[in-house]
Amino acid sequence: MRDCDGIILGTGHNALVLQAYLARCGLRVLSLERNAVAGGGLRTEDSAVLPGFRHNTHSFFHRAVTAMPWYRDLELERHGVRYVEPELNVALVLEDGRSLQWWRDLDRTVDSFNAFSRKDGVALRFWAEEFRPIAENILTVEAQAPPLPPDVRRELLERSAAGRRLLQVQALSPLEFVEREFENDVVRAGLLFFNGLREVDLRLHGFGHSIPALLASTRKAQMCVGGSAALAQALVRDIEEHRGEVRTGVDVAAIELRNGKAAAVTLASGERIEARGWIASGLNPRQTFVELLNATGDLRRQAEGFEFNKIAPLFALNVALQEAPRYSAAASQPELEQAFMVILGLKRYSQFEEIVAAHETGTMPPPVMWGACPTLFDATQAPEGRHTAFMWEKVPYAMPADAEQHGRELLELWGRFAPNMAGANVLHQFVRTPRDTEALLPNMHRGDLLVGSFANGQVGYNRPFAGAGRYRTPVPGLYLCGGSTHPGGNITGLCGYNAASVIAADLGLKRWWNPPDGEAALRGL
Ligand SMILES: Cc1cc2nc3c(=O)[nH]c(=O)nc-3n(C[C@H](O)[C@H](O)[C@H](O)COP(=O)(O)OP(=O)(O)OC[C@H]3O[C@@H](n4cnc5c(N)ncnc54)[C@H](O)[C@@H]3O)c2cc1C
Repeated sequence: MRDCDGIILGTGHNALVLQAYLARCGLRVLSLERNAVAGGGLRTEDSAVLPGFRHNTHSFFHRAVTAMPWYRDLELERHGVRYVEPELNVALVLEDGRSLQWWRDLDRTVDSFNAFSRKDGVALRFWAEEFRPIAENILTVEAQAPPLPPDVRRELLERSAAGRRLLQVQALSPLEFVEREFENDVVRAGLLFFNGLREVDLRLHGFGHSIPALLASTRKAQMCVGGSAALAQALVRDIEEHRGEVRTGVDVAAIELRNGKAAAVTLASGERIEARGWIASGLNPRQTFVELLNATGDLRRQAEGFEFNKIAPLFALNVALQEAPRYSAAASQPELEQAFMVILGLKRYSQFEEIVAAHETGTMPPPVMWGACPTLFDATQAPEGRHTAFMWEKVPYAMPADAEQHGRELLELWGRFAPNMAGANVLHQFVRTPRDTEALLPNMHRGDLLVGSFANGQVGYNRPFAGAGRYRTPVPGLYLCGGSTHPGGNITGLCGYNAASVIAADLGLKRWWNPPDGEAALRGL
C-alpha cells in the first residue's frame, strides 16, 4: 500500500481490531508487524519436531471473547472463528485428591465450594448475585468505552446504589476482600490465584471489586478452535476484505513528525512510509515514545516511568502426548477428565506471600502451575488420537534456574497428579521463558504479558499515564491502541475497539457500529 490514510504499528489483536473497524469506515489502513505472522499473543505454532502437533505458545484462555462487541460487529464467525467454553471451566486439584471446581453453572460451583466450607458456598452465591448487575451495567460498559476522568466517574457512581456499592468494594484490595468474605484456606487460595491470573496486584487498594466481578461474570474462559492464531487469521481476512493491508516481517524503527504531527514511519530496512492522516501504535509507551519517537522532556520521563508487572512473567512447559493427562483424582471425580483449566501445586493461602516475595527478590517461587490439554476439546490441534498440553508458572523475569531442568521438574510435579505424564507418553517437550516472550513480543517488556501494571495510577483515564489516556497522545496524529491502554492487557480486543471510536471521532468519520456510551450508562443507573 503506497498511499495510506493511517498506519498501525504492530499487529497484536488490539491493533488488528482497530484496523478492521477503520478499514470498514472506508479508510486505507496499513499495519506493520516485525514477526513473520500477525497476531502478537494470538499465536499457534506447528511443532518443528512432530508434524501435526500445534502449540499455543502465548494466550490460550480467552475470557468471554464471544461476548465482545467487536466479535459480533466484525462477524468473525463468518470468517470461520469458533470458540468453546468448557463446562468444568477451572479445577484446582489438591494433592490429597480433592478439587475446588468452577463450573459454567453457578449451582455446581457453589456445591464444590460447599464441600470445603458451607459458609463460603453461601458467600460465593451472595457475591455472584450481588455483583451481577454491577458487572453487567457498570464494569462491562466501562471496559467497552473510553474511560471517564476519575472525578466524573466517582460523582456519577455516587448517584446510584449500585455505583456506591461498587465504590465501597473497590476501595478494598483483593486480599482484604477475600479475607473478609471467605474463611476456608483452599477457597481463599483458589480465589486469589484465579484472580491473580488477571494480573491484578492482590495487595493493591482500588481493586477489591475484581474478585466479585469474576464470580459474577456469566462468561468464562474460552478457547479458539484451531488454536489462538485462528482468531488473528480471521481478523486479517476481514481487514483484507475491506482493502486494508497487513504487512509482516517489517520492523518499525522510527516514527517521524512533520510540523509536530505524526506523519511517517521508518523501517529497520531504511524504507520510509508516509501516513496521510494518523499513526496508531499497538506497542508499549517505552517503545512508542522512547525508542521510536525519541521523545524528550515530560513525555520521555512519563514513558520511561511506565511500570511493568513484576509478577506477570510466565515460564511455559509445552508437551506433545500419546494420551491426555489422566489425573488420579478423576477416579473419584470423573468430571476432572474434562476439566479445562487445571491448577496444580496450590494448597495454602499463604503461598501467595511466598510467590510475591520470590518475584520481588528474584528467586524461584514455590511451584504452582496451571494449564490445559486443548485437544480434549479440539481434536484439530494434534494428529488423530494424540494430544497437546501445557503448564504455565509465574516466575521472575530473570529466572535463576536452568530452563530445561526446570521444565523437567514441572513435568515431574505434573506426574504426581497425573501419573501418565511421564515416560513414553510424553512424545516431545519444550519450554519457553519470560526472556523468550520478550524477544518475540517486545511489547511485553520484561515478559510482562499484561503490557503494564495497574499500579502507579496506570489505570482507566490515566493508562498508560496522565495525558496519554483515552488513546490520544500529546503528539498530534499519534494514538495508542495496545494493552498498555484502558482496559489493559489480555485478549479482550477492547483497547483497539475503544481506540477506533476515538480516532473515528477525531477524523469526523461516520461510525458504522454502535458502541456503548460510558457516561450515559452511568447517568442512567
Ligand atoms: C505465555 C503467555 C500466555 C498468555 N496467556 C494468556 C491467556 O491465556 N489469556 C489472555 O487473555 N492473555 C494471555 N496472555 C496475554 C496476551 O497475549 C497479551 O496481553 C496480549 O497479546 C496483548 O495484546 P496487544 O494487542 O497489546 O499486543 P501484542 O499481542 O503484545 O502484540 C504486539 C505486536 O507488535 C509487534 N511489534 C513489537 N514491536 C514491533 C516493531 N518495532 N515493529 C513492528 N511490530 C512490532 C509484536 O511482534 C507483536 O506482534 C498471555 C501472554 C503470554 C506471553
